[in-house]
Amino acid sequence: MSRLAIITGITSQDGSYLAQLLLQKGYRVHGLCRDMEKSRARLASFLGFPVDKITLQETDITDANQMGELIRSLRPDEVYNLAAQSSPARSVQNPRETVLVNAICPLNIMEAIREAALAGTTRFFQASSAEIFTDRAGAPQNEQTPLGPRNPYGASKALAHCLVGSYRASHGLFASSGILYNHESDRRGKQFVTMKIRDAVAEALAGGPCPVTLGNLSARRDWGWAPDYVHGMWLALQAKSPEDFVFATGTAHTVRDFVEAMFRRMGNVTLRWEGRGVEEKGYDTSTGKMMVAVNQEFFRPAEECVMVGDCSKALQTLGWRHTVSFDELIGLM
Ligand code: NAP
Repeated sequence: MSRLAIITGITSQDGSYLAQLLLQKGYRVHGLCRDMEKSRARLASFLGFPVDKITLQETDITDANQMGELIRSLRPDEVYNLAAQSSPARSVQNPRETVLVNAICPLNIMEAIREAALAGTTRFFQASSAEIFTDRAGAPQNEQTPLGPRNPYGASKALAHCLVGSYRASHGLFASSGILYNHESDRRGKQFVTMKIRDAVAEALAGGPCPVTLGNLSARRDWGWAPDYVHGMWLALQAKSPEDFVFATGTAHTVRDFVEAMFRRMGNVTLRWEGRGVEEKGYDTSTGKMMVAVNQEFFRPAEECVMVGDCSKALQTLGWRHTVSFDELIGLM
């Protein structure tokens, strides 16, 4: 019988890529969602996504009883918990929802595995985040970096991360956290900066609103290609023992680099920068037209240290490394 995997957050960027990877590997994939019709439509909108090959199930993942029943009846080989209120900015406005989905849901799943006496059989992956780390520990960060989240999203992910360690130590669960740095694709949610830049640049080049307005252009991020990261998730559950792993490219780029690369790639436009901070502007070198400006409303001071991951442990233990460079990522988006 082929292996069975449950994915929470099947409609997410990562959930959809992971489902495709697991199907290719011969798994049966059971995807949990909130709304069957919307989820089916969203998945169908992803080019080449085999919607009919996965079993979709509407489930309230924050309900311990529903999760208990699901795990008891399906007895999955692997559970990937990807569902999340995944926006740090939104978490400040919605801390309760964020903690409920991001921390209580993984707790419910691990409890369900334990109560069903499946600790020796069912492996659990938690999508953790670089947002769990303090921004004062220096760069790059690795699995030993002290936790110090700065928003409810980071705090909820930190709690889930600690619970994973606790279930591993106290109940012998095969539970692993992947500490994920930013990863992108054309399936990324529209609310994230990379998609906002991509769409705004496309509009500006097509005669729409110009200049493109952004926050701090000097903010730096470690950006990778989403399919690389879901491959890491799968590898984490195939390891000899459950452990936590940083998944990152190890290289940071600024928002300025990102928007510059998008203009070059989408419109063959080269930018020249003038000014600093909120006064900074990007001009088309051939026409002199202002293409990028800073919106004071979105401007936040840059973090004290660069959030960039050291994935040596994932490389040594799992043989994982990213395969797509920053320039290739821009092209793929
Ligand atoms: P995403 O596209 O933002 O999708 C979030 C998923 O969570 C969606 O499937 C959404 O379902 C589901 N969800 C949200 N609230 C829910 C609720 N109350 N009940 C059930 N499901 C709910 O996520 P992603 O970017 O692929 O990220 C996948 C995971 O990795 C997340 O846990 C995220 O926090 C973590 N992560 C991602 C990154 C990154 O750069 N992408 C970095 C670090 C960590 P609906 O379709 O119903 O809205």
